[in-house]
Amino acid sequence: MARHQARQTTIGTPVTLDGVGLHGGGPCRLTLAPAPADTGIVWQRMDLPGRPTVPATVEYVVDTRRATTIGRGVARIRTVEHVMAALRALEVDNALVQLEGEEPPFADGAAATFVALIRSASVAPLDAPRRARRPRAPVWVSSGDAHMVALPSSEFRVSYTFVSDHPALRTQFADFAVDPDVFEHEIAPARTVGWLHEVEALRRSGLGLGITKDAAVVVGETDLVTPMRFANEVARHKVLDIVGDLALAGPVAGLHVIAVRSGHQLHVELARRLTQVIVEEDAC
Ligand SMILES: [Zn+2]
Repeated sequence: MARHQARQTTIGTPVTLDGVGLHGGGPCRLTLAPAPADTGIVWQRMDLPGRPTVPATVEYVVDTRRATTIGRGVARIRTVEHVMAALRALEVDNALVQLEGEEPPFADGAAATFVALIRSASVAPLDAPRRARRPRAPVWVSSGDAHMVALPSSEFRVSYTFVSDHPALRTQFADFAVDPDVFEHEIAPARTVGWLHEVEALRRSGLGLGITKDAAVVVGETDLVTPMRFANEVARHKVLDIVGDLALAGPVAGLHVIAVRSGHQLHVELARRLTQVIVEEDAC
């Protein structure tokens, strides 16, 4: 059966978002701008001399503790995963992500703000066919008790098991076939978990002052400080992180990712394995 020949896309018109970063706490500005076909997603530090660029691919990942950081030369960009997830899920193949600051605005703590930003810019087709890698066989990675497997599939699907003995969180499961509408309504609003003692320490140190208490699912020793939007909100946020981190493998289609306990390090490891294992590119 002939497959529909989709075209590559980019951002329709430049759009800007002002906010504060999580770590620096200072003002930062994010602009999404159009880019030509076959550019991929490229980040640019507008506040550094020479305005250096960093391609958002696995080769440029320099840190995966707590968030995914990319870098080249002196340029570092922290916490790329929520913006990357929104671009990937809304099927934006090419974009220049310009940043004043070291990380994107923390925004809603998830990806709903970035989805709204992309929607306001619109997604424009380019005169070039979309190419994507498709796995032909299972690909898997493990680290300790965290595991991920990517199976060939007719759709892009992510299933996540969050394992916790915290009485208010407990073990959560989320499973979604990711398309723009499912991402916008079911995944993008889901926030990460934040421990109360860490949030308080962040505030005491003067960082994170611009972050509202409902920008994370804040939990104490035994209870929830912030009510959850979904009974499995933390697992849904992990799906969001996986969509963003796997976007660092470039266009990959037709896979079902099943993950247990995984974090950014393992997500990026799977993205790296996918780029090594699947070399064949198909139109999709
Ligand atoms: Zn996240």
